[in-house]
Amino acid sequence: MITARVWRERRQRYLNEAARCKGCGRIHFPPRQVCDACRGSDFEAVRLAETGKVLSWSIIRVPPPAFAQEAPYAVAVLEMDDGARMMAQVADVAPEEMRTGMRVRLEFRKIRQYGRTGIIAYGHKAVPVA
Ligand SMILES: [Zn+2]
Repeated sequence: MITARVWRERRQRYLNEAARCKGCGRIHFPPRQVCDACRGSDFEAVRLAETGKVLSWSIIRVPPPAFAQEAPYAVAVLEMDDGARMMAQVADVAPEEMRTGMRVRLEFRKIRQYGRTGIIAYGHKAVPVA
């Protein structure tokens, strides 16, 4: 069931591939078909910046079943150093340590395991930069 999605999203999921608008330079992650800044539709693939900061965040205390053992955990909107914005779980941080503006770095981590099939999905999580 998830195989097609994993394949479709592999470049953004594993390579952090973003799309830079050739019209105005804005970087979109995940990649999109039309630039929301200039309506351009001509993009080039770029690697998303690996560091950025927390713009806003929320603590998940009642997660979906697949993430139950991780609760409570933080999910944040990040602004990367190249200007792209993305959402990610913030790992290695206690809920009370979360701060707006906190510097983070993306790390490749296990995201979840799918039910009886045991398929493990990997992706990027943000971790605080000391
Ligand atoms: Zn644009």
